[in-house]
Amino acid sequence: MEEIRPLDPRSALVRAEFAIARAEVASHAANRVAADQWAALSETLREAREHPRLFVGPSVRGSEREISEFAERSAAADLAIRLNVSEQAVRNRAHQADTLRHRTPTIWARFHEGDVSVANAATAARLAGSLPGDAPEALAAFDERLADAARNLTPGAFRSKARAVREQVHSLSLSNRHAHAAEQRGVWVDADLDGMAYLTAYLPAFAARQAMARLDHFAAVLAERPELAERPELAERPEESRTLAQLRADVAADLLGGVTASPTGVGVSVAVTVPVLTLLGRSEEPALLEGYGPIDAATARRIAGHAPSFTRILTHPVNGTVLNVDRTSYRVPADLKRWLGVRDGGCVFPGCGRSARRCDLDHTVAWASGGTTAVDNLAHLCRHHHRLKHEGKWSLERDTNGRLAWKSPTGRVRNADPPPF
Ligand SMILES: [Zn+2]
Repeated sequence: MEEIRPLDPRSALVRAEFAIARAEVASHAANRVAADQWAALSETLREAREHPRLFVGPSVRGSEREISEFAERSAAADLAIRLNVSEQAVRNRAHQADTLRHRTPTIWARFHEGDVSVANAATAARLAGSLPGDAPEALAAFDERLADAARNLTPGAFRSKARAVREQVHSLSLSNRHAHAAEQRGVWVDADLDGMAYLTAYLPAFAARQAMARLDHFAAVLAERPELAERPELAERPEESRTLAQLRADVAADLLGGVTASPTGVGVSVAVTVPVLTLLGRSEEPALLEGYGPIDAATARRIAGHAPSFTRILTHPVNGTVLNVDRTSYRVPADLKRWLGVRDGGCVFPGCGRSARRCDLDHTVAWASGGTTAVDNLAHLCRHHHRLKHEGKWSLERDTNGRLAWKSPTGRVRNADPPPF
C-alpha cells in the first residue's frame, strides 16, 4: 500500500488541501475587494455632490441641490463606463456601502475584513435600508442579531433569517409598510431564448392572487369544454390538447395583448420588421420584433398578416431597408422614427437600453450646427442621457464607420454598445 506523507506534493490529500486553502483565501480576498470597491464608488459620488462642477457643464440650471444631484448622476455614468457595469449597479453599490456603514457597522466591518460574503452584505444592506432611519434601536438590534449569521450562513439561509429579524425589529405596522411597498408596483418584460420572453408583474398580493384565480378559472373552462354538452355539432372538434399551464399562459396573453387601443383611444402597437421574402413565404429569414429581437418566420407571417396591433415595417430583400434615405426636414417622419426604434433598440448610452418608446431622437450633430435628419445623425437618448449630453460635460460623436463614441467628464472614451441585432 502506498504511504501518504503529509508534505509529499504528489499526495492527493496535500493537493486537495492546498486547493481548498486557495479557494478560502480567494473568497476572503474577493469579499474584501468588493467592500473596497463599494466604498470607493460611494466616495466618488460624494465628491461629485460636494464639487458638482467636476461633472457638470456651465449651462446646467437649477437649485444647488438639483445641480449636486445631477453631478452625482453624471459621475455614476462615468464610473459605469469605466467598470463596464450599469449606472444602477454603481448607485446600488455606493448606496449599499453607505447603508452598511451607517446602519449596520458590525456587518460592514466584517465584510471589509473579508468574513462576510458579497451576497450576505447585499442582503443586509437591502433589508437594513428598508428599515426606518429614525429608529436607531431597531437598526442596532438588526446589526447585532445578524452579525454572526452574516458570517456563518449561506446566502439563502441568511436571507430567511434576515427577513425574520427585520419583521421582529420593525417599528412600523405592516399596513403602513404595505402602502409604501405598493408604490413600487410595476410590470417588466425580459427577453429569453428561442423567441420567448418573461412578463413579470410586481403587485399587491391580493391583486396577484385574484389575477391568478381568473386565469385558473378560464383555463379550467377551456380544458373542460362545457360547450360540447350543449352543442353537439361541436363534438367533432378535437379534444383540448393544451395543458392547464399552457391554457393559463394563452388566456393571459389574450387578455393583455389582444388590445389594439388604449383606454384613451390612442392606438398602441408594436413594430415588427419583416423581410419581404419572408412575408411572401419564400424565405425563412427571421423578423425583428421591436423591444425583443429575432422571431421565427412563421410567427412573423402570422402577426404581420392578422394582428392589427402590430405595425409592419417591410425591408428590401437586397439592401435590408427601404428607409435609409436622407431627410431634409427637422421633424423625423413617423416611418423613419419607427425603424430607428428597431435599429437602436433603445437609449444608445452604454448599458442603458431604456426603451426607444420612452426616448427622444437626438440629432447627434445639432440641427442648428448643420446636422441633418438622417439615419446616421439620429440616435435615441433617454431623458437622463439626453441631459447628460447637453449639460453634463459629456460629448457624443459618430465616427466615419457610423459608430457612436461617448467621452466622459473625466476623459474616458467609450463606444456606444453595438445595436442588439
Ligand atoms: Zn439612457
